[in-house]
Amino acid sequence: MSKTFKQWQELAKGLKIEARAFIDGEFTGASGGKTFPCISPIDGKHLADVACAQSADVDRAVRAARSSFNSGIWSQISPRERKAVLLRWARLLEQHNDELAALETIDAGKTITDTSTGDIPCVVYCLEWFAEAIDKVHGEVIGTDPAFLGMVTREPIGVVAAVVPWNYPLLMAAWKFAPALAAGNSVIIKPSEKSPLSILKAAQLASEAGIPKGVFQVLPGFGDVGAQLSLHKDVDCLAFTGSGPTGRKIMHNAADSNLKRVWLELGGKSPNIILKDCPDLERAANSSAYGIFANAGQVCSAGSRVLVQRDVLPEFLQHLKTAAGNFKAGNPLDPDTTVGALVDEIQLKRVLSYIDKGNAEASLVLGGVRSAPEAGGFYVEPTIFSCADAKPAIACEEIFGPVLSVIPFDTNEEAIAMANASEYGLAAAVWSADIATAHEMGRALRAGTVWINCYDEIVDMNFPFGGYKQSGNGRDNSLHALEKYTEIKSTIMRLR
Ligand code: NAD
Repeated sequence: MSKTFKQWQELAKGLKIEARAFIDGEFTGASGGKTFPCISPIDGKHLADVACAQSADVDRAVRAARSSFNSGIWSQISPRERKAVLLRWARLLEQHNDELAALETIDAGKTITDTSTGDIPCVVYCLEWFAEAIDKVHGEVIGTDPAFLGMVTREPIGVVAAVVPWNYPLLMAAWKFAPALAAGNSVIIKPSEKSPLSILKAAQLASEAGIPKGVFQVLPGFGDVGAQLSLHKDVDCLAFTGSGPTGRKIMHNAADSNLKRVWLELGGKSPNIILKDCPDLERAANSSAYGIFANAGQVCSAGSRVLVQRDVLPEFLQHLKTAAGNFKAGNPLDPDTTVGALVDEIQLKRVLSYIDKGNAEASLVLGGVRSAPEAGGFYVEPTIFSCADAKPAIACEEIFGPVLSVIPFDTNEEAIAMANASEYGLAAAVWSADIATAHEMGRALRAGTVWINCYDEIVDMNFPFGGYKQSGNGRDNSLHALEKYTEIKSTIMRLR
Protein backbone atom coordinates (compact mmCIF):
# COMPACT_ATOMS: atom_id res chain seq x y z
CA MET A 1 0.00 0.00 0.00
CA SER A 2 1.30 3.45 -0.79
CA LYS A 3 2.61 5.58 2.08
CA THR A 4 1.19 8.88 3.33
CA PHE A 5 3.13 12.17 3.56
CA LYS A 6 3.59 11.56 7.29
CA GLN A 7 4.86 8.02 6.76
CA TRP A 8 7.38 9.20 4.16
CA GLN A 9 8.53 11.99 6.49
CA GLU A 10 9.02 9.46 9.30
CA LEU A 11 10.88 7.08 7.00
CA ALA A 12 13.10 9.95 5.81
CA LYS A 13 13.82 11.04 9.38
CA GLY A 14 14.89 7.53 10.38
CA LEU A 15 17.25 6.95 7.42
CA LYS A 16 20.77 5.84 8.26
CA ILE A 17 22.87 7.84 5.83
CA GLU A 18 26.13 6.32 4.58
CA ALA A 19 28.37 9.23 3.61
CA ARG A 20 31.79 7.59 3.16
CA ALA A 21 33.43 6.71 -0.14
CA PHE A 22 33.35 3.05 -1.24
CA ILE A 23 36.81 1.90 -2.33
CA ASP A 24 38.21 -1.61 -2.70
CA GLY A 25 35.21 -3.25 -1.08
CA GLU A 26 34.91 -1.02 1.97
CA PHE A 27 33.49 2.27 3.12
CA THR A 28 36.22 4.71 3.94
CA GLY A 29 36.75 8.40 4.71
CA ALA A 30 38.56 10.56 2.15
CA SER A 31 42.28 11.20 2.61
CA GLY A 32 42.89 13.84 5.23
CA GLY A 33 39.32 13.28 6.48
CA LYS A 34 38.01 15.86 3.97
CA THR A 35 34.22 16.15 3.77
CA PHE A 36 31.62 18.40 2.16
CA PRO A 37 28.16 19.22 3.50
CA CYS A 38 25.16 17.61 1.84
CA ILE A 39 22.15 19.94 2.02
CA SER A 40 18.53 18.98 1.39
CA PRO A 41 16.82 21.13 -1.26
CA ILE A 42 13.52 20.47 0.55
CA ASP A 43 14.32 22.85 3.40
CA GLY A 44 17.99 23.79 3.12
CA LYS A 45 18.83 21.56 6.11
CA HIS A 46 22.10 19.72 6.57
CA LEU A 47 21.82 15.98 5.85
CA ALA A 48 25.37 14.67 6.19
CA ASP A 49 29.05 15.42 5.82
CA VAL A 50 30.09 13.41 2.80
CA ALA A 51 33.61 12.13 2.11
CA CYS A 52 35.22 14.48 -0.39
CA ALA A 53 37.54 12.32 -2.50
CA GLN A 54 41.08 13.65 -3.04
CA SER A 55 43.59 12.72 -5.70
CA ALA A 56 45.08 9.99 -3.46
CA ASP A 57 41.59 8.45 -3.23
CA VAL A 58 41.20 8.55 -7.01
CA ASP A 59 44.53 6.73 -7.37
CA ARG A 60 43.54 4.19 -4.73
CA ALA A 61 40.21 3.48 -6.46
CA VAL A 62 41.83 3.17 -9.89
CA ARG A 63 44.51 0.81 -8.49
CA ALA A 64 41.84 -1.35 -6.85
CA ALA A 65 39.78 -1.38 -10.05
CA ARG A 66 42.82 -2.34 -12.15
CA SER A 67 43.85 -5.05 -9.77
CA SER A 68 40.35 -6.57 -9.60
CA PHE A 69 40.14 -6.43 -13.39
CA ASN A 70 43.52 -8.09 -13.89
CA SER A 71 42.76 -10.77 -11.31
CA GLY A 72 39.85 -11.97 -13.46
CA ILE A 73 37.62 -12.30 -10.39
CA TRP A 74 34.85 -10.54 -12.35
CA SER A 75 36.21 -9.99 -15.86
CA GLN A 76 37.01 -13.66 -16.44
CA ILE A 77 34.03 -15.41 -14.87
CA SER A 78 31.27 -16.68 -17.13
CA PRO A 79 28.56 -14.23 -18.19
CA ARG A 80 26.06 -16.48 -16.46
CA GLU A 81 27.86 -16.10 -13.12
CA ARG A 82 27.98 -12.32 -13.50
CA LYS A 83 24.31 -12.36 -14.35
CA ALA A 84 23.47 -14.22 -11.11
CA VAL A 85 25.29 -11.63 -8.98
CA LEU A 86 23.76 -8.68 -10.80
CA LEU A 87 20.28 -10.15 -10.45
CA ARG A 88 20.90 -10.62 -6.71
CA TRP A 89 21.87 -6.96 -6.53
CA ALA A 90 18.72 -5.98 -8.43
CA ARG A 91 16.58 -7.92 -5.91
CA LEU A 92 18.28 -6.15 -2.99
CA LEU A 93 17.72 -2.75 -4.61
CA GLU A 94 14.09 -3.66 -5.12
CA GLN A 95 13.74 -4.71 -1.48
CA HIS A 96 15.19 -1.33 -0.43
CA ASN A 97 13.02 0.61 -2.89
CA ASP A 98 11.40 2.93 -0.37
CA GLU A 99 14.60 3.66 1.52
CA LEU A 100 16.45 4.48 -1.71
CA ALA A 101 13.50 6.56 -2.95
CA ALA A 102 13.41 8.57 0.29
CA LEU A 103 17.19 9.12 0.11
CA GLU A 104 16.86 10.34 -3.47
CA THR A 105 13.99 12.65 -2.51
CA ILE A 106 15.66 14.30 0.47
CA ASP A 107 18.97 14.61 -1.36
CA ALA A 108 17.82 15.81 -4.80
CA GLY A 109 14.33 17.23 -4.14
CA LYS A 110 12.62 14.84 -6.57
CA THR A 111 9.03 13.91 -5.76
CA ILE A 112 8.59 10.75 -3.73
CA THR A 113 6.03 9.52 -6.26
CA ASP A 114 8.68 9.73 -8.99
CA THR A 115 11.51 8.23 -6.97
CA SER A 116 9.47 5.37 -5.47
CA THR A 117 7.55 4.41 -8.61
CA GLY A 118 9.92 5.70 -11.32
CA ASP A 119 13.60 6.17 -10.54
CA ILE A 120 14.30 3.17 -8.30
CA PRO A 121 12.12 0.64 -10.18
CA CYS A 122 13.86 1.81 -13.38
CA VAL A 123 17.27 1.23 -11.77
CA VAL A 124 16.19 -2.33 -10.95
CA TYR A 125 14.84 -2.82 -14.48
CA CYS A 126 18.06 -1.49 -16.02
CA LEU A 127 20.25 -3.79 -13.94
CA GLU A 128 18.03 -6.80 -14.63
CA TRP A 129 17.93 -6.02 -18.35
CA PHE A 130 21.72 -5.96 -18.79
CA ALA A 131 22.18 -8.94 -16.46
CA GLU A 132 19.68 -10.92 -18.53
CA ALA A 133 21.24 -9.79 -21.80
CA ILE A 134 24.85 -10.62 -21.09
CA ASP A 135 24.69 -14.41 -21.53
CA LYS A 136 22.79 -13.97 -24.79
CA VAL A 137 25.22 -11.84 -26.75
CA HIS A 138 27.69 -13.83 -28.79
CA GLY A 139 30.66 -13.32 -31.01
CA GLU A 140 30.85 -13.97 -34.74
CA VAL A 141 32.51 -16.61 -36.87
CA ILE A 142 33.68 -15.15 -40.15
CA GLY A 143 33.48 -17.06 -43.42
CA THR A 144 37.12 -17.43 -44.52
CA ASP A 145 39.38 -19.63 -46.58
CA PRO A 146 38.84 -23.15 -45.08
CA ALA A 147 42.45 -23.24 -43.92
CA PHE A 148 41.52 -20.56 -41.39
CA LEU A 149 39.07 -19.98 -38.58
CA GLY A 150 38.10 -16.37 -38.12
CA MET A 151 36.36 -15.12 -34.99
CA VAL A 152 35.20 -11.75 -33.71
CA THR A 153 34.78 -11.59 -29.95
CA ARG A 154 34.00 -8.91 -27.42
CA GLU A 155 36.05 -8.33 -24.31
CA PRO A 156 35.58 -5.90 -21.43
CA ILE A 157 37.57 -2.67 -21.81
CA GLY A 158 39.05 -2.69 -18.31
CA VAL A 159 38.60 0.19 -15.87
CA VAL A 160 35.47 2.23 -16.60
CA ALA A 161 34.85 5.50 -14.77
CA ALA A 162 31.39 7.07 -14.89
CA VAL A 163 30.80 10.71 -13.98
CA VAL A 164 27.10 11.42 -13.50
CA PRO A 165 24.70 14.30 -12.74
CA TRP A 166 22.06 14.93 -10.09
CA ASN A 167 18.73 14.92 -11.92
CA TYR A 168 18.27 11.13 -11.77
CA PRO A 169 21.17 10.35 -9.45
CA LEU A 170 20.95 6.57 -9.17
CA LEU A 171 19.34 5.97 -12.55
CA MET A 172 21.97 7.88 -14.55
CA ALA A 173 24.63 5.90 -12.67
CA ALA A 174 22.79 2.63 -13.42
CA TRP A 175 22.66 3.45 -17.13
CA LYS A 176 26.48 3.27 -17.00
CA PHE A 177 27.30 0.70 -14.32
CA ALA A 178 24.74 -1.92 -15.44
CA PRO A 179 26.11 -2.45 -18.97
CA ALA A 180 29.72 -1.85 -17.89
CA LEU A 181 29.57 -4.43 -15.09
CA ALA A 182 27.56 -6.91 -17.16
CA ALA A 183 30.32 -6.75 -19.80
CA GLY A 184 32.94 -7.62 -17.15
CA ASN A 185 34.57 -4.26 -16.44
CA SER A 186 35.58 -2.82 -13.09
CA VAL A 187 33.71 0.42 -12.47
CA ILE A 188 34.23 3.65 -10.55
CA ILE A 189 31.24 5.97 -10.13
CA LYS A 190 31.71 9.67 -9.45
CA PRO A 191 28.27 10.93 -8.39
CA SER A 192 27.35 14.60 -8.49
CA GLU A 193 28.37 16.52 -5.37
CA LYS A 194 24.69 17.58 -5.27
CA SER A 195 23.28 14.06 -4.90
CA PRO A 196 25.79 11.49 -3.62
CA LEU A 197 23.65 9.51 -1.15
CA SER A 198 21.63 6.89 -3.07
CA ILE A 199 24.63 5.47 -4.92
CA LEU A 200 26.46 4.94 -1.60
CA LYS A 201 23.52 2.91 -0.29
CA ALA A 202 23.51 0.99 -3.58
CA ALA A 203 27.24 0.23 -3.07
CA GLN A 204 26.49 -1.39 0.27
CA LEU A 205 23.91 -3.60 -1.46
CA ALA A 206 26.38 -4.40 -4.26
CA SER A 207 28.71 -5.80 -1.67
CA GLU A 208 25.93 -7.85 -0.08
CA ALA A 209 25.00 -9.19 -3.51
CA GLY A 210 28.55 -10.50 -3.99
CA ILE A 211 30.16 -7.98 -6.35
CA PRO A 212 33.84 -8.60 -5.59
CA LYS A 213 36.12 -6.04 -3.96
CA GLY A 214 37.44 -3.36 -6.32
CA VAL A 215 34.90 -4.16 -9.04
CA PHE A 216 32.40 -1.45 -8.05
CA GLN A 217 33.50 1.74 -6.32
CA VAL A 218 32.03 5.14 -5.52
CA LEU A 219 34.05 8.34 -5.19
CA PRO A 220 31.91 11.24 -3.94
CA GLY A 221 33.40 14.65 -4.56
CA PHE A 222 33.46 17.67 -6.84
CA GLY A 223 34.38 18.22 -10.47
CA ASP A 224 38.11 17.84 -9.74
CA VAL A 225 37.50 14.12 -9.06
CA GLY A 226 35.84 13.74 -12.47
CA ALA A 227 38.69 15.70 -14.04
CA GLN A 228 41.31 13.44 -12.45
CA LEU A 229 39.49 10.35 -13.62
CA SER A 230 39.34 11.77 -17.15
CA LEU A 231 43.09 12.50 -17.04
CA HIS A 232 44.06 9.21 -15.41
CA LYS A 233 46.30 7.04 -17.57
CA ASP A 234 44.95 3.84 -16.07
CA VAL A 235 41.27 4.55 -16.75
CA ASP A 236 40.30 2.94 -20.06
CA CYS A 237 36.89 4.50 -20.60
CA LEU A 238 35.06 7.49 -19.22
CA ALA A 239 31.28 7.55 -19.54
CA PHE A 240 29.77 10.91 -18.75
CA THR A 241 26.30 12.39 -18.35
CA GLY A 242 26.12 16.10 -17.66
CA SER A 243 26.56 19.49 -19.24
CA GLY A 244 28.23 20.32 -22.55
CA PRO A 245 31.03 22.45 -21.08
CA THR A 246 32.06 19.61 -18.74
CA GLY A 247 31.83 17.10 -21.60
CA ARG A 248 34.25 19.23 -23.62
CA LYS A 249 36.77 19.31 -20.78
CA ILE A 250 36.55 15.54 -20.42
CA MET A 251 37.28 15.05 -24.13
CA HIS A 252 40.28 17.37 -23.85
CA ASN A 253 41.54 15.47 -20.84
CA ALA A 254 41.18 12.14 -22.63
CA ALA A 255 43.15 13.55 -25.56
CA ASP A 256 45.82 14.91 -23.20
CA SER A 257 46.24 11.59 -21.37
CA ASN A 258 45.72 8.09 -22.79
CA LEU A 259 43.01 8.62 -25.44
CA LYS A 260 40.59 6.71 -23.24
CA ARG A 261 37.20 6.05 -24.80
CA VAL A 262 34.84 8.90 -23.95
CA TRP A 263 31.06 8.62 -24.07
CA LEU A 264 29.02 11.76 -23.58
CA GLU A 265 25.33 12.22 -22.80
CA LEU A 266 24.81 15.97 -22.68
CA GLY A 267 22.06 18.57 -22.72
CA GLY A 268 19.07 19.36 -24.87
CA LYS A 269 16.50 21.94 -25.89
CA SER A 270 13.98 19.53 -27.29
CA PRO A 271 11.25 20.76 -29.65
CA ASN A 272 7.69 19.48 -29.33
CA ILE A 273 5.82 20.34 -32.56
CA ILE A 274 2.03 20.67 -32.56
CA LEU A 275 0.55 20.76 -36.08
CA LYS A 276 -2.90 22.23 -36.68
CA ASP A 277 -4.30 18.76 -37.44
CA CYS A 278 -3.10 17.43 -34.08
CA PRO A 279 -5.53 14.58 -33.30
CA ASP A 280 -6.25 15.73 -29.74
CA LEU A 281 -5.10 19.19 -28.62
CA GLU A 282 -6.06 18.61 -25.01
CA ARG A 283 -3.99 15.46 -24.85
CA ALA A 284 -1.09 17.22 -26.55
CA ALA A 285 -1.32 20.01 -23.97
CA ASN A 286 -1.36 17.55 -21.05
CA SER A 287 1.60 15.73 -22.53
CA SER A 288 3.49 18.98 -23.19
CA ALA A 289 2.96 20.05 -19.58
CA TYR A 290 4.28 16.70 -18.35
CA GLY A 291 7.19 16.96 -20.79
CA ILE A 292 8.48 20.12 -19.10
CA PHE A 293 7.19 20.09 -15.52
CA ALA A 294 8.04 16.48 -14.61
CA ASN A 295 11.10 16.43 -12.34
CA ALA A 296 10.73 20.24 -12.17
CA GLY A 297 12.07 20.45 -15.72
CA GLN A 298 15.45 19.03 -14.70
CA VAL A 299 15.36 16.49 -17.50
CA CYS A 300 17.84 16.45 -20.38
CA SER A 301 15.10 15.43 -22.83
CA ALA A 302 12.50 17.89 -21.45
CA GLY A 303 10.22 19.30 -24.14
CA SER A 304 11.28 22.84 -23.28
CA ARG A 305 10.23 24.37 -26.63
CA VAL A 306 6.68 23.80 -27.83
CA LEU A 307 6.28 24.89 -31.45
CA VAL A 308 2.59 25.42 -32.25
CA GLN A 309 1.01 26.06 -35.64
CA ARG A 310 -0.49 29.55 -35.43
CA ASP A 311 -4.05 28.42 -36.36
CA VAL A 312 -4.40 26.40 -33.13
CA LEU A 313 -2.24 28.51 -30.83
CA PRO A 314 -5.06 30.16 -28.76
CA GLU A 315 -6.89 26.87 -28.20
CA PHE A 316 -3.66 25.03 -27.38
CA LEU A 317 -2.58 27.71 -24.88
CA GLN A 318 -5.94 27.45 -23.14
CA HIS A 319 -5.54 23.67 -22.71
CA LEU A 320 -1.90 24.11 -21.69
CA LYS A 321 -2.80 26.53 -18.90
CA THR A 322 -5.37 24.07 -17.55
CA ALA A 323 -2.89 21.18 -17.79
CA ALA A 324 -0.13 23.18 -16.09
CA GLY A 325 -2.56 23.95 -13.25
CA ASN A 326 -2.28 20.29 -12.24
CA PHE A 327 1.42 20.78 -11.51
CA LYS A 328 2.21 22.51 -8.23
CA ALA A 329 5.53 22.98 -6.53
CA GLY A 330 5.64 21.65 -2.99
CA ASN A 331 7.31 19.36 -0.46
CA PRO A 332 8.49 16.37 -2.52
CA LEU A 333 7.89 13.92 0.35
CA ASP A 334 4.17 14.58 -0.04
CA PRO A 335 2.78 11.99 -2.50
CA ASP A 336 0.38 14.65 -3.83
CA THR A 337 3.24 16.93 -4.92
CA THR A 338 3.86 16.91 -8.68
CA VAL A 339 6.76 19.40 -8.86
CA GLY A 340 9.50 18.98 -6.29
CA ALA A 341 12.37 21.24 -5.33
CA LEU A 342 15.17 22.30 -7.65
CA VAL A 343 18.38 20.60 -6.64
CA ASP A 344 20.09 23.55 -4.95
CA GLU A 345 20.34 27.32 -4.63
CA ILE A 346 22.65 27.57 -7.67
CA GLN A 347 20.00 25.93 -9.86
CA LEU A 348 17.27 28.08 -8.29
CA LYS A 349 19.20 31.26 -9.16
CA ARG A 350 19.87 30.01 -12.68
CA VAL A 351 16.17 29.31 -13.30
CA LEU A 352 15.07 32.64 -11.78
CA SER A 353 17.58 34.52 -13.93
CA TYR A 354 16.11 32.89 -17.06
CA ILE A 355 12.64 33.88 -15.86
CA ASP A 356 13.91 37.50 -15.64
CA LYS A 357 15.18 37.22 -19.22
CA GLY A 358 11.84 35.72 -20.27
CA ASN A 359 9.94 38.62 -18.72
CA ALA A 360 12.06 41.00 -20.80
CA GLU A 361 11.83 39.08 -24.10
CA ALA A 362 8.46 37.27 -24.07
CA SER A 363 5.00 37.30 -22.44
CA LEU A 364 4.46 35.47 -19.19
CA VAL A 365 1.46 33.14 -19.38
CA LEU A 366 1.76 31.34 -16.06
CA GLY A 367 3.94 31.10 -12.92
CA GLY A 368 7.26 32.92 -13.07
CA VAL A 369 7.82 33.02 -9.31
CA ARG A 370 9.73 31.26 -6.59
CA SER A 371 7.33 29.48 -4.28
CA ALA A 372 7.39 28.77 -0.53
CA PRO A 373 10.67 30.61 0.21
CA GLU A 374 9.72 30.40 3.91
CA ALA A 375 10.24 26.60 3.74
CA GLY A 376 13.96 27.25 3.15
CA GLY A 377 13.91 25.06 0.02
CA PHE A 378 14.33 25.80 -3.67
CA TYR A 379 10.93 25.81 -5.38
CA VAL A 380 9.78 27.50 -8.60
CA GLU A 381 6.18 27.47 -9.87
CA PRO A 382 5.62 25.88 -13.30
CA THR A 383 6.20 28.72 -15.73
CA ILE A 384 5.05 29.29 -19.31
CA PHE A 385 6.16 32.03 -21.69
CA SER A 386 4.59 32.85 -25.02
CA CYS A 387 7.31 33.97 -27.47
CA ALA A 388 6.78 35.91 -30.71
CA ASP A 389 9.56 33.91 -32.38
CA ALA A 390 12.41 31.52 -31.54
CA LYS A 391 14.96 34.24 -30.74
CA PRO A 392 14.65 34.80 -26.95
CA ALA A 393 17.31 33.14 -24.79
CA ILE A 394 14.61 31.14 -22.98
CA ALA A 395 13.64 29.61 -26.34
CA CYS A 396 17.20 28.61 -27.33
CA GLU A 397 19.23 27.82 -24.21
CA GLU A 398 18.89 24.87 -21.86
CA ILE A 399 17.41 26.15 -18.59
CA PHE A 400 16.98 22.83 -16.76
CA GLY A 401 13.98 24.04 -14.80
CA PRO A 402 10.16 24.20 -15.04
CA VAL A 403 10.12 26.90 -17.73
CA LEU A 404 8.37 26.35 -21.05
CA SER A 405 8.62 28.50 -24.19
CA VAL A 406 5.70 28.37 -26.62
CA ILE A 407 6.62 29.52 -30.13
CA PRO A 408 4.27 29.91 -33.13
CA PHE A 409 4.99 28.79 -36.70
CA ASP A 410 3.08 28.83 -39.98
CA THR A 411 4.36 26.02 -42.23
CA ASN A 412 5.69 22.53 -41.55
CA GLU A 413 9.00 23.45 -43.22
CA GLU A 414 9.35 26.40 -40.87
CA ALA A 415 8.70 24.12 -37.89
CA ILE A 416 11.42 21.68 -38.94
CA ALA A 417 13.89 24.49 -39.61
CA MET A 418 13.21 25.99 -36.16
CA ALA A 419 13.36 22.59 -34.46
CA ASN A 420 16.72 21.77 -36.03
CA ALA A 421 18.21 25.24 -35.48
CA SER A 422 19.83 24.17 -32.23
CA GLU A 423 23.25 22.95 -31.16
CA TYR A 424 21.39 20.11 -29.43
CA GLY A 425 19.64 17.05 -30.85
CA LEU A 426 18.51 14.87 -27.97
CA ALA A 427 14.75 14.45 -28.45
CA ALA A 428 11.80 15.86 -30.40
CA ALA A 429 8.09 15.23 -30.95
CA VAL A 430 5.49 15.80 -33.66
CA TRP A 431 1.71 15.78 -33.21
CA SER A 432 -0.38 15.24 -36.35
CA ALA A 433 -3.37 13.12 -37.40
CA ASP A 434 -1.68 12.58 -40.76
CA ILE A 435 0.71 9.77 -39.99
CA ALA A 436 2.62 10.18 -43.27
CA THR A 437 3.30 13.86 -42.50
CA ALA A 438 4.22 13.03 -38.90
CA HIS A 439 6.57 10.31 -40.10
CA GLU A 440 8.23 12.52 -42.72
CA MET A 441 8.72 15.25 -40.14
CA GLY A 442 10.07 12.70 -37.67
CA ARG A 443 12.65 11.67 -40.28
CA ALA A 444 13.66 15.28 -40.84
CA LEU A 445 14.24 15.94 -37.13
CA ARG A 446 17.89 15.71 -36.11
CA ALA A 447 17.36 14.05 -32.73
CA GLY A 448 18.23 10.76 -31.04
CA THR A 449 14.62 10.10 -29.97
CA VAL A 450 11.47 11.18 -31.82
CA TRP A 451 7.99 10.77 -30.34
CA ILE A 452 4.91 10.90 -32.56
CA ASN A 453 1.62 11.89 -30.94
CA CYS A 454 3.09 11.50 -27.45
CA TYR A 455 5.95 12.91 -25.39
CA ASP A 456 8.35 10.97 -23.20
CA GLU A 457 6.17 7.87 -23.03
CA ILE A 458 7.25 4.23 -22.71
CA VAL A 459 10.12 3.25 -20.45
CA ASP A 460 11.77 0.43 -22.33
CA MET A 461 15.43 -0.53 -22.13
CA ASN A 462 15.32 -1.76 -25.73
CA PHE A 463 15.36 1.82 -27.01
CA PRO A 464 18.79 3.46 -27.24
CA PHE A 465 18.94 6.89 -25.59
CA GLY A 466 21.30 9.66 -26.60
CA GLY A 467 21.81 12.62 -28.83
CA TYR A 468 22.76 13.96 -32.22
CA LYS A 469 25.06 16.98 -32.52
CA GLN A 470 26.20 18.52 -29.23
CA SER A 471 23.80 16.39 -27.18
CA GLY A 472 26.52 13.77 -27.10
CA ASN A 473 27.81 10.59 -28.70
CA GLY A 474 27.09 6.92 -28.23
CA ARG A 475 23.89 5.69 -26.66
CA ASP A 476 22.76 4.55 -23.22
CA ASN A 477 20.36 1.61 -22.84
CA SER A 478 19.72 -1.23 -25.33
CA LEU A 479 22.35 -3.64 -26.64
CA HIS A 480 24.05 -0.68 -28.35
CA ALA A 481 25.18 0.50 -24.90
CA LEU A 482 27.07 -2.76 -24.34
CA GLU A 483 29.28 -1.92 -27.29
CA LYS A 484 30.57 1.15 -25.45
CA TYR A 485 32.01 -1.00 -22.69
CA THR A 486 33.66 -3.69 -24.81
CA GLU A 487 36.62 -3.95 -27.11
CA ILE A 488 36.24 -5.98 -30.28
CA LYS A 489 38.88 -8.57 -31.08
CA SER A 490 39.43 -10.27 -34.44
CA THR A 491 41.15 -13.64 -34.10
CA ILE A 492 42.45 -15.31 -37.25
CA MET A 493 43.66 -18.85 -36.79
CA ARG A 494 45.46 -20.93 -39.44
CA LEU A 495 44.24 -24.50 -38.96
CA ARG A 496 46.84 -26.26 -41.09
P1 NAD B 1 27.72 19.08 -14.79
O1 NAD B 1 28.42 18.93 -16.08
O2 NAD B 1 27.87 20.33 -14.04
O3 NAD B 1 28.16 17.93 -13.79
C1 NAD B 1 28.03 16.55 -14.10
C2 NAD B 1 29.09 15.79 -13.35
O4 NAD B 1 30.37 16.19 -13.82
C3 NAD B 1 29.10 16.01 -11.84
O5 NAD B 1 29.36 14.77 -11.22
C4 NAD B 1 30.25 16.98 -11.65
O6 NAD B 1 30.86 16.91 -10.38
C5 NAD B 1 31.21 16.51 -12.73
N1 NAD B 1 32.19 17.51 -13.17
C6 NAD B 1 32.14 18.85 -13.04
N2 NAD B 1 33.25 19.41 -13.59
C7 NAD B 1 33.99 18.40 -14.10
C8 NAD B 1 35.21 18.34 -14.82
N3 NAD B 1 35.91 19.43 -15.13
N4 NAD B 1 35.67 17.14 -15.21
C9 NAD B 1 34.96 16.02 -14.94
N5 NAD B 1 33.82 16.01 -14.25
C10 NAD B 1 33.32 17.19 -13.83
O7 NAD B 1 26.19 18.76 -15.10
P2 NAD B 1 24.97 18.78 -14.07
O8 NAD B 1 24.65 20.19 -13.74
O9 NAD B 1 25.27 17.84 -12.94
O10 NAD B 1 23.81 18.12 -14.92
C11 NAD B 1 22.98 18.86 -15.75
C12 NAD B 1 23.35 18.60 -17.20
O11 NAD B 1 23.32 17.20 -17.47
C13 NAD B 1 22.36 19.21 -18.16
O12 NAD B 1 23.04 19.84 -19.22
C14 NAD B 1 21.58 18.01 -18.66
O13 NAD B 1 20.97 18.19 -19.89
C15 NAD B 1 22.61 16.94 -18.67
N6 NAD B 1 21.99 15.60 -18.65
C16 NAD B 1 22.04 14.84 -19.79
C17 NAD B 1 21.45 13.58 -19.82
C18 NAD B 1 21.48 12.72 -21.06
O14 NAD B 1 21.24 11.53 -20.96
N7 NAD B 1 21.79 13.27 -22.22
C19 NAD B 1 20.81 13.08 -18.67
C20 NAD B 1 20.79 13.88 -17.54
C21 NAD B 1 21.39 15.14 -17.53
